[in-house]
Amino acid sequence: MKIHEYQAKQLLVKAGVPVPRNIVARTPDEAARAFQELGGELAVVKSQIHAGGRGKGRFNEHPEQPGVVLVRSADEAKAHAARMLGSTLVTIQTGPEGKQVSTLLVEAGLKIARELYLGVVVDREAGGPVLIVSSEGGMEIEVVAHDSPEKILKEAFDVSAGLQAFQARKLAFALGLEGAALKNAVGFFQKTCQFFVDNDCSMAEINPLVVTADGELIALDAKVTFDDNALFRHPEFAELRDLNEEEPMEVQAQKAGLSYVKLDGNLGCLVNGAGLAMSTMDIIKLHGGEPANFLDVGGGANVDQVTEAFRIILADPNVKGVLVNIFGGIMKCDTIVTALMTAYDKIGIKVPLVVRLEGTNVEIARKMLAVSGRNIVTGTDLTDAAKKAVAAI
Ligand code: ADP
Ligand code: MG
Repeated sequence: MKIHEYQAKQLLVKAGVPVPRNIVARTPDEAARAFQELGGELAVVKSQIHAGGRGKGRFNEHPEQPGVVLVRSADEAKAHAARMLGSTLVTIQTGPEGKQVSTLLVEAGLKIARELYLGVVVDREAGGPVLIVSSEGGMEIEVVAHDSPEKILKEAFDVSAGLQAFQARKLAFALGLEGAALKNAVGFFQKTCQFFVDNDCSMAEINPLVVTADGELIALDAKVTFDDNALFRHPEFAELRDLNEEEPMEVQAQKAGLSYVKLDGNLGCLVNGAGLAMSTMDIIKLHGGEPANFLDVGGGANVDQVTEAFRIILADPNVKGVLVNIFGGIMKCDTIVTALMTAYDKIGIKVPLVVRLEGTNVEIARKMLAVSGRNIVTGTDLTDAAKKAVAAI
């Protein structure tokens, strides 16, 4: 689950991580008032969307307007806010469709001496969290990793012990920090790592992490993602969720207990089991098709879930055909065919439908399909079904 920068900063402050003074604004007037309340000569108005690259991003409606902008007066803050609110911001991370901005963060402008990079992620090789820092702040870390990998420094740490002071010092030295900045970096690194663990994050990225002329370290940007599997431990995070930022059909699927990910192709797939869904997508591609989605109805799906699954798949206007691939293990094939036919009649499926079944009660299920009187093509195996589905569209 992703959250907004302003929400991440509120949580970071609670964890003792310094962030610039800031105020949330949802109207141009609020942005003007925020500038006055901050009281400085310089402020920054920042679009709140679940994507990075805002500084370099532009609005569809106002091609001159960046997603993050420095302002020097309340009037200027208000004018920028008026253009930003309700408009669609396109950045390198949003895709061409962009994201609509409905919240702004007005923040005190900082005198930046150095911009560093900091990220905490879960690392497979280390088998746990890893703190990553780099002297190349403000840049996309993927570019740094590609062009100058030696500038990326890493320390794995233990979830129970946290990042040790010697590890933090090692990184701070390597970044060339001295005096107050060195001391502040140790605290900053340790607290950010503790924040990551305490909140069950899958990612916490601070880019740029700013060093001021006085040697203070301040999180200028904050991107935080929580591990969905741990959300049950944090009921308080529910209110941080912004459904406007999520794919509406993915939200609907979650409610129905289905795991659905929308993709760009035109062949819908309905599969039971995540591994089988992955191989179904692979085999569709192998035979020249493009999957429109990943959809796993799970091991014990019922008629309602299968109906909902069809509804979700067919709500995507790109879908020109559907491939159903079921392996009846816990699920009986005849149960799924009953569900399939009920869904078929309820929704009125107008695109070609290809079904491949295998497993428990498959013979009964095949007979049911053969006499169903509905326009359903059957595949004898996975390859046959994929070929037929691709050919049908
Ligand atoms: P994004 O990563 O989405 O582009 P950032 O929050 O990193 O958004 O902001 C982009 C750039 O704007 C930063 O790299 C920094 O140069 C500048 N900036 C952001 N916030 C401030 C601030 N409070 N004071 C001064 N400059 C800022
Ligand atoms: Mg940033």
